[in-house]
Amino acid sequence: MIYPDELKLKQNLITDTHAHYDDKRFDGIRDELLLSLHENGVDRIITCAVDGASAKGALALADKYSFIYAAVGIHPENLESKTSTEEIRALAAHGKCVAIGEIGLDYYYSSDNKEEQKKVFEEQVVLANELSLPVIVHDREAHADTLEIIKKYRPKGVLHCFSGSPEMAAEAVKAGMYIGVGGVVTFKNAKKMPDVIKAVPKERLLLETDCPYLAPEPYRGALCHSGYITLTAKKVAEILTESTEEVLKLTSENAQNLFTF
Ligand SMILES: [Zn+2]
Repeated sequence: MIYPDELKLKQNLITDTHAHYDDKRFDGIRDELLLSLHENGVDRIITCAVDGASAKGALALADKYSFIYAAVGIHPENLESKTSTEEIRALAAHGKCVAIGEIGLDYYYSSDNKEEQKKVFEEQVVLANELSLPVIVHDREAHADTLEIIKKYRPKGVLHCFSGSPEMAAEAVKAGMYIGVGGVVTFKNAKKMPDVIKAVPKERLLLETDCPYLAPEPYRGALCHSGYITLTAKKVAEILTESTEEVLKLTSENAQNLFTF
């Protein structure tokens, strides 16, 4: 197993608020990987579903490992799964379901079904509010519509892998949201991210991987896992002129405030 040197923390400090450990790319290494991560400083992981089947996979992992929690929901790229919001409601009754997610809008993936995407997103935001659960929101090239729905329903939650402007981040925070920062912050082309991070109150920042995708530099393109979050934390620490440990501790506390672990 390959870990960055920074991961040898000797104490559990890392909360990965967004992962996909039911993904096929972890088949064959999943159990060994998860156990080593937990032994090497990863305190808690939220594994996010993209449809009904993956929600069951996420909940099974949460049943198996004390340090794993699940989010259940229908991702905008998975509408053809025909998972209903009522199915999500039933799955969300599980004791280790801590959020409705991953839900949202993706106009890069498809701009032909915007109305359907918005309808499914809104239904799930309403469900989260009914169940008093936070939302984990995916927004790709759909900033205005995402913000409009957030402002309309005012759920608790996080805009994951945030890709908007500093102004949008500030507006989302004002509406009650947290801002999720992932490996993209380490990419050379993530030019807006330092200003986004500075525009967000520190108590509203969360760290995440979105693994198996979006491994931070210098592992960009490799299979990502929660251990690489230290590299994201290091970059955020540089931007905020804090220590990496401080950033890991702060963002873990922030996750504790948003999600009920
Ligand atoms: Zn994701």
